[in-house]
Amino acid sequence: MTEGVFTYSGGRVEPGETEDIRFPVSETYLGDPIRIPVTIINGAKPGPTVYLSAAVHGDELNGIEVVREVAQEWDHGGLEGTLVCLPVLNVPGFMAQQRYLPIYDRDLNRAFPGAEDSTSARRMAARIFDEFVEPCDLGIDFHTSTRGRTNMLHVRADTDDPQVARLAKAFASHVIISSEGPSGSLRREATDAGVPTITVEMGEAHRFQRDLIDRALDGVVSVLAEYGLRPTDAVRWPGWRTIVGDQNEKTWLRASAGGVVEMHHIQGALVHEGDRICTITNPFKAESDTVCAPFDGVIVGVLENPLVYPGNPLCHLVRLDADTLRAVEREQPNAE
Ligand SMILES: [Zn+2]
Repeated sequence: MTEGVFTYSGGRVEPGETEDIRFPVSETYLGDPIRIPVTIINGAKPGPTVYLSAAVHGDELNGIEVVREVAQEWDHGGLEGTLVCLPVLNVPGFMAQQRYLPIYDRDLNRAFPGAEDSTSARRMAARIFDEFVEPCDLGIDFHTSTRGRTNMLHVRADTDDPQVARLAKAFASHVIISSEGPSGSLRREATDAGVPTITVEMGEAHRFQRDLIDRALDGVVSVLAEYGLRPTDAVRWPGWRTIVGDQNEKTWLRASAGGVVEMHHIQGALVHEGDRICTITNPFKAESDTVCAPFDGVIVGVLENPLVYPGNPLCHLVRLDADTLRAVEREQPNAE
């Protein structure tokens, strides 16, 4: 690649230029191209190349709006570096408004880095990965919770890798859940290929949630400031932060009875050990189970659909140490 020029199969974007592309990644039953929307913004001055991607799960919409607003509404006059904006990765899933690729219900987010002579999912993944992920220096992949659940905005990242840890912290979320990530996921495979990548989880599928979108946009500003792409902006500090490493620092609380769930807290809420988190009742509104917090923590994810079988997840709770707990209490003065 010539210094400062972004090239892809079929085109090039010079410094100071922006281009909206519809890039073919597969074909329909009719033989028509399946094309993903891509916006390349090449800053007038050189700097790192950053990709922003969304809707690798086709029904996870919040990130689409984050990436579109960065691509189309921000002033990139002072940009030092290049942004590769990929608002809809899983176009077939997006068209069907479902999580997986409609073909055999494949998870595009288990198909990376892909292969040219493999399944349709892996071929699609390879087109995306080779053209728009591998040429980058770092990336952010936006997700939401699975349908029927919601989560507070948080980052998932392999913080054992110092480069990934730098990126994760720069996004300035309160909670970072550290793991390598599943094999075949964009985050893990891009990181393994030398492109440090984090996942941002935010809210629920099938929605635009304005408050979360705005907070994610603040996170993108902070990341681009950290890496010098927007040198006049500041890197944010979220006020408090907890990095959740091993399994006993987080837990999914599960239903011990079938029934109707009444949640007493929303995602992002602080709870203390022993607090009632939810109750499960039967059709006669008699209580069949009360679920209490096993430790002091913050609720990262909760059920949206109030109906459960025994064993269904109710809420994702992350433990807070004493110092973090005090910082959260200062920020949430009304927390009990
Ligand atoms: Zn997802």
